[in-house]
Amino acid sequence: MGVIKQSFGFTKEKREASRFTITNTLGMKAVVSDFGAVLVELHVPDKNGAAADVVLGGETVSDYEGNGCYLGATVGRNANRIAGAAFELNGVKYQIPVNENSNNLHSGPQVYNERLWESEYGDDEMGSYVTFSLHSPDGDQGYPGTLDISVTYIVSAEENSLMIHYHGICDKDTIVNLTNHSYFNLGGHDSGTILGHKVWIDADYITEATAEAIPTGKLLAVSGTPMDFTTEKLVGQEIGADYEPIINGGGYDHNYCLNAYDKTAAEHEIALVARLSEETSGRSMEVYTDLPGLQLYSGNFLKGTFVGKGGYRYENRTGICFETQYYPNAVNEPSFPSPVLKAGEEYDTTTIYVFKA
Ligand code: BGC
Repeated sequence: MGVIKQSFGFTKEKREASRFTITNTLGMKAVVSDFGAVLVELHVPDKNGAAADVVLGGETVSDYEGNGCYLGATVGRNANRIAGAAFELNGVKYQIPVNENSNNLHSGPQVYNERLWESEYGDDEMGSYVTFSLHSPDGDQGYPGTLDISVTYIVSAEENSLMIHYHGICDKDTIVNLTNHSYFNLGGHDSGTILGHKVWIDADYITEATAEAIPTGKLLAVSGTPMDFTTEKLVGQEIGADYEPIINGGGYDHNYCLNAYDKTAAEHEIALVARLSEETSGRSMEVYTDLPGLQLYSGNFLKGTFVGKGGYRYENRTGICFETQYYPNAVNEPSFPSPVLKAGEEYDTTTIYVFKA
């Protein structure tokens, strides 16, 4: 149990970044960095007790500068896409940068995951933790309001789980929709594709989307389609299907509307929403969240250009993301749960990844 701080190298601007190793006594170890509040390593035991690092990542801070893959990234102020890179809030129109087609993806180019965050760490009754804080000024990335956010990674003392707790407060109404973009591979980050992993998602619908992955506003029932993970199945089973959403996404890259989220409730419970498992290692990962959506992204845009830990090249589909989030473009779709944070109110959400073997 505990946290160890070490150097993570120097950024292009010659600022030193740190890496923090968080452990428990059950064989789990997470490494996070104040550069981007990224998750760098996550070691968990297999069925024989042998640990492997189950997330894709780099070795030093320079690997995380400008690679565009969002490895282990804390994505914000708004994760995923905003149509036309524009929205209206309280009668005011906001234009944010266009960085994909005519839209905005992951609030780029001034991404949170390439900034140095403040850090604080220690142990408490839940386990060992590192908290990263970021001050995002009014107008940052084009969004209204001065937003103070924190992201806390907690390695549980009682089970092999990584909890990510997000908190934010803003002086004006704004959008806040943070996620973690870790690519998981339960065979180990250097073990090949994730096509042989099994996935279960408790979601009967996805948000229907255009070829540019912008929601149409309609929900699409997954039953009887390749999108259906309500019964556990192999990622590779239907990833090559001749089915429009799959073709448009180049595989899985879709927002699942989580059944557990009650739109009418004022407070949202943390619920089990998805599971990933890999037979050879015997590892499984459960995803818990209080958020309405989950982007299942099968690493379709990984092209072997990124050389990761141990010199391993991350080829196509070597990692799979479970990005808990508000639905894409939710700010422009009144029927979707709202990603608007009111001035002075608290943004407070939790996602937990629980590992078993
Ligand atoms: C998006 C993908 C995108 C990827 C970037 C995912 O959240 O849905 O379309 O390519 O992030 O790494």
